[in-house]
Amino acid sequence: AEAFLDGKRHIRTNEHEDTDAMSMPWHRETQYHAWVPIMTGCNNFCTYCIVPYVRGREKSRPFEEIVDEVTGLVRQGVREITLLGQNVNSYGRDLFGKPRFADLLRAVGDTGVERIFFTSSHPKDLLPETIDAMAETPAVMPQLHLAVQSGSTRILKEMNRRYTREDYLGLVDRIRNRMPDIALSTDIIVGFPGETEEDFEQTLSLAETVRYAQAYTFIYSKRAGTPAAEIDDPTPHEVILERFNRLVKVIETTAHEYNQRELHTVVPALIEGTSKKNDAVLLGKSPKNQTVHAPIPEGYSIDQLVGKIVDVDVDVAKTWYLSGSVVGEPR
Ligand code: SF4
Repeated sequence: AEAFLDGKRHIRTNEHEDTDAMSMPWHRETQYHAWVPIMTGCNNFCTYCIVPYVRGREKSRPFEEIVDEVTGLVRQGVREITLLGQNVNSYGRDLFGKPRFADLLRAVGDTGVERIFFTSSHPKDLLPETIDAMAETPAVMPQLHLAVQSGSTRILKEMNRRYTREDYLGLVDRIRNRMPDIALSTDIIVGFPGETEEDFEQTLSLAETVRYAQAYTFIYSKRAGTPAAEIDDPTPHEVILERFNRLVKVIETTAHEYNQRELHTVVPALIEGTSKKNDAVLLGKSPKNQTVHAPIPEGYSIDQLVGKIVDVDVDVAKTWYLSGSVVGEPR
């Protein structure tokens, strides 16, 4: 279960929450954005996760039903959708005998929706045809959440993730070969039972290699009924906390570095409202899921701008946001 599902930016929490796509609060939908569930359940049985026990096996929604729903949403004025599932990459395996997520992405891309995000992606199920569909469907945004959980092959095996460190890094290379500028985000658990300093350093070095644009980092917490909950771990909490803080520093460095690339470029931001701290400042989202701020341009009220896309000439790039000024007309 990946933290990204609720659409919030809780960059640092110390709880690994098992969220579920089908229990999400759909009322958070707006005029311009919709969450579209495409499948529920999970067949993976990661050893720390309760989802497969409580939500059952993978179950996909019919292909046409999803495409029709998105077509209807577009007619109602929705510009951005997020396709949701515990493991969107295996979408359709139960319906067609093989994953059909690539086909779904292309079909949803043909509905006229302007921005498509999706989550969550299990690395072992991200097929080459899906990478092609992402690269070749203009509405699919250049952003991918790819939960790694650990950089140590030994711990990944204990977690039953069914990929190695090398598999994951190879996948990242393939993705970047097709989409060099893509913003990669991830989930990482620190302190899985039995994780040694050496294992943790593998995670640190993987994060340094991938250079994530964002990451959701968690301190492992036991889920009763899961295999990992049975493993005793003598590692003191202070040691785990110290490792967690080292990881957060690496993520902050790479997130800052990633955002620096946008400096002095024009970024199209879909406006969601105003900044929590200043209601004269717009809050929007870039195609790479970055938070974008800009003063409300003269002659406009916030009500006229929510749901519009504005071009922002970025002159400040911080770790967790970009800011600048609006250029041209909102659309
Ligand atoms: Fe849980 Fe793993 Fe399935 Fe995600 S892929 S829902 S972590 S069992």
